[in-house]
Amino acid sequence: EVKKYILEIEDLEVRYGHIQALNGVNIQVEKGKIISIIGSNGAGKSTLLNTISGLVKPVQGKIRHHGDEIQGKPAHAIVKRGIVQVPEGRKIFGGLSVRENLVVGGFLLKNQKKRNELVDEMFALFPRLKEREQQQAGTLSGGEQQMLAICRGLMIDPELILLDEPSLGLAPVLVNEVFKLIKKINGLGITVLLVEQNAKKSLALSDYAYVLENGSIFTQGKGEDLLANEDIQKVYLGER
Ligand code: ATP
Repeated sequence: EVKKYILEIEDLEVRYGHIQALNGVNIQVEKGKIISIIGSNGAGKSTLLNTISGLVKPVQGKIRHHGDEIQGKPAHAIVKRGIVQVPEGRKIFGGLSVRENLVVGGFLLKNQKKRNELVDEMFALFPRLKEREQQQAGTLSGGEQQMLAICRGLMIDPELILLDEPSLGLAPVLVNEVFKLIKKINGLGITVLLVEQNAKKSLALSDYAYVLENGSIFTQGKGEDLLANEDIQKVYLGER
């Protein structure tokens, strides 16, 4: 079986001054899958996503997208390639309506008619947002804001979506909704690279996962295998 990788990360190294945030990281993202990165606070998870999306420049290593080296390229060039990041903390435009947030997300589409069609597609997929189309986005619930942030990312019709802690700060029932949403997105054929502190739920959802610690990959494997691994359970799944 020949695996098709969208992204191949090789020996990636990132520093902030004297802080070594990533050190020799190797990750492969197979097309159509959900891949997750778990790890403690400060492990380097956000740094990894920010480096892929062009917000942070690595000092060493390669990131290949369909074979092309993209490390160090500016963020707008990465988005154009169909890689979109949904940042931690949602960061929607609170003063704009739900519809306006989506329209802004579709900035790459110069054709306004196409853009509006895509907004309507989002509303068909997520009726809950449709019901709140004209509502000021800042007044949405936390879960709805997260849904909107993800949909806004989908407005570039991405091949790969990078999700940074989508369940952060959400009530448990909303956490479940966000994980369902991720599954739904993946069902549309979009590959997902997910960074999460909620290790149990993300491993259960993932085809494959990496555990990042102190800037290095500590272990990796199929989501189900890591879930069943006793060491992982002790450290990351809150079981003794
Ligand atoms: P969390 O789960 O807490 O969000 P994380 O795994 O996403 O953590 P990063 O945010 O990638 O971790 O941080 C990795 C390390 O790099 C940490 O030690 C952090 O303090 C440091 N760091 C991150 N961003 C910067 C920055 N802009 N300047 C200096 N140090 C930084």
